[in-house]
Amino acid sequence: MKEACGVVGIVAPGRAVSHLIFDALVALQHRGQESAGIASWDHESITVFKDNGLVASVFNEQSLHSLRGDVAIGHTRYSTSGSANWTAAQPVYREAGRVGFALSHNGNLTNTDALAARAGILPGMLVSDSDVVAQLIALSIDTGRTLVEGIAEVLPTVEGAYSLVFLGDGVVHGIRDPHGFRPLCLGRLGTADAPEGWVLASESPALDVIGASFVRELQPGELVTITETTVTSRQLLEPSSGKEKLCIFEFVYFARPDAYLMGHQVHSARRRMGERLAQQAHVEADLVMGVPDSGVPAAEGFAAVSGIPFGYGLVKNRYIGRTFIAPDQISRSKGVRRKLNPLRENIEGRRLVVVDDSIVRGTTTQALVAMLRDSGATEVHLRISSPPFSWPCFYGIDTPTRAELLAANSTVEEMRAFIGADSLEFISMENLRDAIGLDGECCDACLTGNYPAPVPVSFSRTQSRA
Ligand code: SF4
Repeated sequence: MKEACGVVGIVAPGRAVSHLIFDALVALQHRGQESAGIASWDHESITVFKDNGLVASVFNEQSLHSLRGDVAIGHTRYSTSGSANWTAAQPVYREAGRVGFALSHNGNLTNTDALAARAGILPGMLVSDSDVVAQLIALSIDTGRTLVEGIAEVLPTVEGAYSLVFLGDGVVHGIRDPHGFRPLCLGRLGTADAPEGWVLASESPALDVIGASFVRELQPGELVTITETTVTSRQLLEPSSGKEKLCIFEFVYFARPDAYLMGHQVHSARRRMGERLAQQAHVEADLVMGVPDSGVPAAEGFAAVSGIPFGYGLVKNRYIGRTFIAPDQISRSKGVRRKLNPLRENIEGRRLVVVDDSIVRGTTTQALVAMLRDSGATEVHLRISSPPFSWPCFYGIDTPTRAELLAANSTVEEMRAFIGADSLEFISMENLRDAIGLDGECCDACLTGNYPAPVPVSFSRTQSRA
């Protein structure tokens, strides 16, 4: 599974903001590694610089210097809608109104085809769902509306997941969709008594890295507007239900462990997932190890409760950008090896509990178990810190079709046999919610099939709930 973008927006009067945006994007790199971009405002015009690649390879001192001004937004992308090529890189820019506007989007829309038809975009000419929203807002501005009025006219017709950050006329706006599928938080540069600027970012570590303080998360449907002198908020869209539907996989896997979401630190939540797993699915073993990165805190929690020693059994290569995506089993095994190398001394002759965050197709886990056995493990017991992943995601995570999801087509015992583990247990939904500290909130559609927002018509026609 791959996350679908990180967004950031900063207003910091008198400061060269492109360097701050760069640092924030590096902190959000895990949310998207296909392309990166910045749009900045120099009090006369908007300049956009974007390209395919990691943040540090897209920008250099020269390009950051060319992005003048003290107001800017940024984006790091993994594509779930539209193509992965340069044209889909963000921020998206549109000429409309006095100076045009730019937008950065995290999420995935579920009525893109209908929106594209309304925007007059011909089938086959679609660049991305974000591009369609930009086009609709531009058309609205062309009729005499302001950027905010255009946003207010268009977003009520948009379905699916979005955390959006806009730049227009020296002002930054941020909004979360009415379900709150994707995170977005507000931070402050300077002190509460003497603010020096304001920041919107997908995750709180992007604030930490630029010296900003976390203020709060935006509410579903809330629009925050930042000018050089003010920060204002309004409930632009009514929340769709009483409860926020933040993606539960932000806690399990996507977000950085040092992020705070819905008031909970992600690392602590992952550790508690391991604790609950140990209570739920004990096994006799010699060593508990986690699959880096998100499996490690869960493994620590499992070890603490089970009394089985915790240790490291896999070393992750941190310098592989986008995960190697291979069409066949042999090359997929090679892909695992490129990313994870076993620590033979810790593994050989031992019965292992291996804690991982999820099983999607199962082929990567199968390759991992084979690698651990090749390294001398006598038993491999898999413990997974999310329930079986049985339904595709339409809200901003790149997942295979239902036919390719192992859990959608197999019992747990069939999955265990396919993967080649000695035992396999998934955390229960109840224990997962309990570990995070949730009371019914969060989207869990890929685990339960309960989609909180409409899914694309093509899917709902072909695949009903089991
Ligand atoms: S379907 Fe799953 S991955 Fe997608 S937003 Fe909901 S919980 Fe997250």
